[in-house]
Amino acid sequence: MTESTSLLDVQGLGIRFGGLDAVKDVTAVIPAGQITAIIGPNGAGKSTFFNLISGFYQPTAGSIRFAGEDITRLKTHEVVARGIARTFQTTTIYRELSVLDNAMIGHRVRTRAGLWDALLRTGREKRDEDGSRAGALQALERVGLSSRAHLPAGALTQEGQKRVGIAMALSSDPKLLLLDEPAAGMNPEETVRLMALIRDLVGGGLSVALVEHKMSLVMGLADRILVLHHGQKIAQGTPAEVSRDPAVVEAYLGS
Ligand code: ADP
Ligand code: MG
Repeated sequence: MTESTSLLDVQGLGIRFGGLDAVKDVTAVIPAGQITAIIGPNGAGKSTFFNLISGFYQPTAGSIRFAGEDITRLKTHEVVARGIARTFQTTTIYRELSVLDNAMIGHRVRTRAGLWDALLRTGREKRDEDGSRAGALQALERVGLSSRAHLPAGALTQEGQKRVGIAMALSSDPKLLLLDEPAAGMNPEETVRLMALIRDLVGGGLSVALVEHKMSLVMGLADRILVLHHGQKIAQGTPAEVSRDPAVVEAYLGS
């Protein structure tokens, strides 16, 4: 293997919406055991890139390999089962359900063909239920919410609710976690705590890719940065390399 083991490998990845190339010909690597930040001006294609990787959108060009396997055409739950989990730009939690139930929903998506399937009564029901509870409890511990497991999720602070969103993703025990703007709306103290949490998760063996606008977080946390602009990759490298790249400076000043 070269420098660092690549966990996710995308080649010539693209998707068109009508006449718009939301992501175009992106070739990039997300290494194992590191934090990769994806940055770029609004509308650059960052969330779309995550939607492609996680199977929410089917690419119109290119391929995606994860841990050596071609996952280009897999459906969302199949991608989750392979070990990729994500959070969303807008946290979608069930406010009336307990924190634990929220986390368990994340786990069920991995072990079943989706929520519809969860309505079917099968002999596996009990075993799945136990597995999903254990996975969810472990996820809550990783984000520091064990003591809140039985509260309604809506009773938590906004920061706590964001952690529930992360726990929902972690409950499937992913190898790669995709975080879409995890620090959006956070004050500086909350942002620092989030950075510590992400570092902890990576210390425990997780690989992370995150989309983020807060440059303090990106520069303080990322091992590598991928820069998108108008759907295309314009730079990739260490924070130091990327921040002195003329194309990057121009993309930000011009937008
Ligand atoms: P970013 O996350 O970098 O701000 P997005 O990935 O959300 O940008 O969007 C990139 C471009 O793709 C935008 O012009 C957006 O309007 C467009 N886009 C994203 N999703 C869709 C969709 N489902 N249908 C049509 N256009 C879309
Ligand atoms: Mg976005």
